[in-house]
Amino acid sequence: MPELPEVEVVRRGLAEHVEGRGVTAVEVHHTRAVRRHLAGTGDFVGRLQGRRLIAARRRGKYLWLGLDGGSVALLAHLGMSGQLLVQPAGAPDGAHLRVRVRLDDGNELRFVDQRTFGGLSVEELVGSAPTGSADEPPYVPAPVAHIARDPFDPEYQLESAVAAIRRRNTGLKRALLDQTLVSGIGNIYADEALWQARLHWARPTATLDRPAARRVLTAAAAVMAQALGEGGTSFDSLYVDVNGQSGYFDRSLAVYGRAGQPCPRCGSPVRRDSFMNRSSFSCPRCQPRPRHPHR
Ligand SMILES: [Zn+2]
Repeated sequence: MPELPEVEVVRRGLAEHVEGRGVTAVEVHHTRAVRRHLAGTGDFVGRLQGRRLIAARRRGKYLWLGLDGGSVALLAHLGMSGQLLVQPAGAPDGAHLRVRVRLDDGNELRFVDQRTFGGLSVEELVGSAPTGSADEPPYVPAPVAHIARDPFDPEYQLESAVAAIRRRNTGLKRALLDQTLVSGIGNIYADEALWQARLHWARPTATLDRPAARRVLTAAAAVMAQALGEGGTSFDSLYVDVNGQSGYFDRSLAVYGRAGQPCPRCGSPVRRDSFMNRSSFSCPRCQPRPRHPHR
């Protein structure tokens, strides 16, 4: 599943290669990829054709392209395996091409998705303009309205996120993954941030003081910024890609995916626990299990 840094890499690629381009034609190769567009495939195509893609935006792991001439946007749900590719019209189609958007510069924006959990939809923009950013598109797509700001958002407030997490009565990692409290933190970065902050994933948020909450949120922002720094230059000029494999920053992970290997800080073998149908990786010595873990 793609995480925030990968999605931001894609957003930057789209901003560079797609912003300002007109849509000349749209082909839907698999109707499942537009199932979230409730008015149907014909309406989806009709609302894109002839429009201009004006701004690539992101909140958490949601990505959208604003359309000219009205407060609507093309929203991409990447799901588990969704990819957005910008390729020349002549490039061969991959096996899992779901939607082709022909652009007026001879390139195509292609939505490719092996498992078809993702998809595209045209959505109304809602909400009000953030203060002091009149040149930004002031709205978010309706399905994104409940998503909290992510740590890369200029309007993100650390203290608000700290308060939101401490208000929720749950386990700390669940709170970090809750996109309505703070967005963009996925399984990998939650584990890395918890390790940096020396906090156990099952720590009840009710017992978390303000400095500890600040520490883990600051660590999450830092590890994501580091991953972005490593991945931000990895796409070539005509290939914008996200696939969730995240191979480019694996080498800098301290605990995630490293069960049995030594903790980079103390050398204890990293431990893997089952967590919400996935895994949590932690150091048993740096991140001792709380006496009363949250279930
Ligand atoms: Zn350790």
